[in-house]
Amino acid sequence: MKASMKRKRIFWLTAWGVCCAAVAGVMLWAAGQSAVCSNADLTNVPVVPAAAGQSETPEQEKRVFLTFDDGPSATTESVLDILKEKGVCATFFVVGAENNQKYLPLLQRMTEEGHQIGLHSYSHSYKTIYESTTAFWADIKQLRQTIEPYVDLDTIHWLRFPGGSTNTVSHKYGGSGIMKALKEQAEEKGYRYVDWNVCAEDAAGGHPSAETIYENVVNEAEGKTTCVVLMHDTKATKNTVEALPDIIDWFSENGYRFCGISELNQQI
Ligand SMILES: [Zn+2]
Repeated sequence: MKASMKRKRIFWLTAWGVCCAAVAGVMLWAAGQSAVCSNADLTNVPVVPAAAGQSETPEQEKRVFLTFDDGPSATTESVLDILKEKGVCATFFVVGAENNQKYLPLLQRMTEEGHQIGLHSYSHSYKTIYESTTAFWADIKQLRQTIEPYVDLDTIHWLRFPGGSTNTVSHKYGGSGIMKALKEQAEEKGYRYVDWNVCAEDAAGGHPSAETIYENVVNEAEGKTTCVVLMHDTKATKNTVEALPDIIDWFSENGYRFCGISELNQQI
């Protein structure tokens, strides 16, 4: 072999090696990205309200945001076990009332396992929290103080209003303008809030079966590119735990990526 050909061959072999290493690097990086949400997600939140119609998501990427309200409770540990087994992340909108307090140390496990935590309410009493805007923020302050030993408050940027941001039950206690005022104040305080567009209806009366919960989720999720799924992790929603593996499998099989709520950048 001529020396020049040999040099060429070495050059191409080297180029090929560098290229393979780069591709492998990108693949590893991508695998890392699609794994369970990293804790870094919690600190990197742009604290701005979602704007109508805003979308920075790659075209047609299917995403699911599993959310659990009203916990932690005796049910939460099983929910965490399933999420861990399936390797997916979720967001917990927590309550700090007496029934929940025994389980609050689970907030540490949530964070350690890559889940996100948002605020729901301290008391979850509509009558108390929606009496006035002052009453609402006093309740949120109490929740923050209650969970402070278990979570870094600086990582919390999201809240979910009990009953949702367009509920009308609040009008009975705080007047017809209270939700509008609370939403404006939430934004002023740097919170983002989120409702849901898929409801498991797992907290409905009569304790729906795991099968019904699964069907509720799948029927509502079908055809949606972005799904924010409302479920509950309370003492009364054990059937949600039973339905959860199948719910996760359905989203996986249908090509959805599991996201923490900080990745939500659009109205739902
Ligand atoms: Zn709730």
